[in-house]
Amino acid sequence: MEELSPTHILPGLPLTAPRHAEAPSDRDTLAYGAYFTRALDRLHAESRYRVFVDIERVAGHFPEAIWHAPGGVRPVTVWCSNDYLGMGQHPAVVEALISAAQRSGAGAGGTRNISGNSHPVVTLEAELADLHGKEAALVFSSGYVSNQASLATIGRLIPGCLMISDADNHNSIIEGIRQSGCEKAIFRHNDLADLESILSAAQDRPKIVIFESVYSMDGDVAPVAAITRLARRYGAMTYLDEVHAVGMYGARGAGIAEAQGVSGLIDILEGTLAKAYGVVGGYIAASIPIVDAIRSCAPGFIFTTALPPATAAAACASIRHLKGSDAERSAQRRQVAAVKEALAAEGLPVLDKGTHIVPLLVRDAAACKAAADRLLDRHGIYIQPINYPTVPRGQERLRITPTPLHTDAQIAALVRALAEIWTALGLARAPGRAPSL
Ligand code: PLP
Repeated sequence: MEELSPTHILPGLPLTAPRHAEAPSDRDTLAYGAYFTRALDRLHAESRYRVFVDIERVAGHFPEAIWHAPGGVRPVTVWCSNDYLGMGQHPAVVEALISAAQRSGAGAGGTRNISGNSHPVVTLEAELADLHGKEAALVFSSGYVSNQASLATIGRLIPGCLMISDADNHNSIIEGIRQSGCEKAIFRHNDLADLESILSAAQDRPKIVIFESVYSMDGDVAPVAAITRLARRYGAMTYLDEVHAVGMYGARGAGIAEAQGVSGLIDILEGTLAKAYGVVGGYIAASIPIVDAIRSCAPGFIFTTALPPATAAAACASIRHLKGSDAERSAQRRQVAAVKEALAAEGLPVLDKGTHIVPLLVRDAAACKAAADRLLDRHGIYIQPINYPTVPRGQERLRITPTPLHTDAQIAALVRALAEIWTALGLARAPGRAPSL
């Protein structure tokens, strides 16, 4: 049997693996547990151990939900959902899901390689290609998989490609680049001058610039048009992750590239069906040869079961609705502005980068967890604490995502609760602001 290397499993933890010439005894098997408990101990010691709240969403009542708390069920208001527009409970979406399930059943029946394309998936891909003004689209089981599988495959299809990646890119992009085996170059977050120096040093070699439009933790927006034009000037391809922007920005909800009028200049647009569209799944939209090559060569597409027909039908209904309706987006903008204004008036350290994502900085892992616990326990408000490695150490925060379905009364209750917590825990307020409590 191959000897376990502790450094492979837990870098930095000098554990000794049990040795045995024959089959492991019970004692040896128990000894393996140390690898896992040490990892957990370390997370606890750094206040990074993640506790997932047991929440039951209730269609028709979002953002109200049921918390299955240790002592019994309690009502809570959810303020951290990435179902940004509440489309997960929209009647047209739920109806599409139910009727497709009644027609076609629950599952997909296999990979597309084995079982073919289900018609709702074909329809969904046509809808996505139209949304982004591209020739074709390809659906994956999640946004994560679409980045990982597409980037790994693009890199393998372009020998010697330099992958030029924004420093704040999501883990799915980092993993895709890693699996491509290509050389990578990181440019400072949203820094055009740094990007240009990498592009010019790369000269004539094949290269691709990989970036996001809305960054999910600070909520800041990339200069998508400027990055795209710069990349084209130096002969680089472009890959844009619009996961936090699709459904949300642009006249038809196609994202920031649409809003900035450059969809046509971007080679590959990537998005999710799981956030503003309220369902699940991910995709890319691009030219026919790019989509066909990724469809044909990406293991993360080929070797996994397709999206179920009901999921595809629900996502399609959501995209169609948000192509034609701005009501959800404009109601959300109103509530986002109201939340930011009320937090700032209370002197709470809100970070306003002009999007729907509203981070409230705590800057300490233990305090962030304590604030979230008190919010849930005393005030019936659920906001998941965001700690390292999702954000750098010292940048811990509560990430608030107002939706069009949050009422003015819920906003007032949220800000009252946060003000109470900031005072009770002695957390830092924005400079020059006094608490009202
Ligand atoms: N890309 C970015 C920028 C993300 O933040 C996320 C997830 O939050 C993903 C991709 C993955 O999307 P999904 O949740 O659909 O897997």
